[in-house]
Amino acid sequence: MKTKADILLIYTGGTIGMVKDAETGSLKAFNFDDLLQNIPELKLLEHTIDSVSFEKPIDSSNMRPAFWIKIAGMIEENYDRYDGFVVLHGSDTMSYTASALSFMFENLGKPIIFTGSQLPIGDLRTDAKENLVTSIQIAGLQEKGKPVITEVGLYFEYKLYRANRTTKINAEYFEAFASMNYPPLLESGVHLSVNRSLLWPSSEKGKMKVHKKLNDEIALIKVYPGMNRKVMEHLFSFMEVKGIILETYGTGNAPTDEWFVNLLSQAISRGVVVVNVTQCIGGSVNMGQYETSNQLKRIGVVSGKDITVEAAIAKLMYLLAKDLSPKVFKTIFETSLRGEMN
Ligand code: ASP
Repeated sequence: MKTKADILLIYTGGTIGMVKDAETGSLKAFNFDDLLQNIPELKLLEHTIDSVSFEKPIDSSNMRPAFWIKIAGMIEENYDRYDGFVVLHGSDTMSYTASALSFMFENLGKPIIFTGSQLPIGDLRTDAKENLVTSIQIAGLQEKGKPVITEVGLYFEYKLYRANRTTKINAEYFEAFASMNYPPLLESGVHLSVNRSLLWPSSEKGKMKVHKKLNDEIALIKVYPGMNRKVMEHLFSFMEVKGIILETYGTGNAPTDEWFVNLLSQAISRGVVVVNVTQCIGGSVNMGQYETSNQLKRIGVVSGKDITVEAAIAKLMYLLAKDLSPKVFKTIFETSLRGEMN
């Protein structure tokens, strides 16, 4: 049985590989290969580790779909050569990138594990080493010669989550991520304890396929008390928008003002898809539970159920690129494609 795995480490940027600029005191990206040489712990791992890096590592605030496609391409090119992939990424937008990758890889048969850190790897109190070393071990987990994890995961502070269920919830503590609607896939203590019943099944039948077309003509509108009619009319009059994510209250509730409902309904009749996602970090949209969501259901708003905003954005860009009819779009969006919703 093969226990030694070949792992590809992909460094995109983020705090993990940053150093302090002596002049400004701000953290900036650094040459990761140089840093890797200074982590003796990696040499103790039983796995073979190769690394590739973005030519210009970025702070993940500058992440965008073109970079998601680039990461997907780097994995696709090396898919047959490696048993698992670890993507080092800034924590700020890690959930968005990891969610996007989960949709872009259909019938994934190997682990893609995202990780990063709150403190640079060279820092004395860094959380980077544990995150990095354990992510590599997780990517290398095999049973009967087959990878244990066959989905896109996000490992941070002793927990592996399904990536498309995560949200960054803390800018201070090492425990920076939460997955409110789905339990951790694995917890790291003295042993790595895998919650097998929660894993996304590996698809032995289908061939792995990478979808590299995304449509970013979308808008994210968060509902809040006092939404101004003129401002909203202006926003909704923008014809280029093909999809809107409406971040609603609680179980998917929104103001019932006629002007607002009309704006949504006119957009839907123009062919714009409107997806209802809750602004709560846990729980689910359930249109019709309250009177204040009946109107949305009636005009054909798509239910995001318990999807995160990050995964909803990724799924919307992924599905819009497929040019589906509004009816088919609604059916597919409301179906779990990669375990992103219940
Ligand atoms: N600003 C950084 C980034 O997202 C934060 C981090 O890496 O945690 O790239």
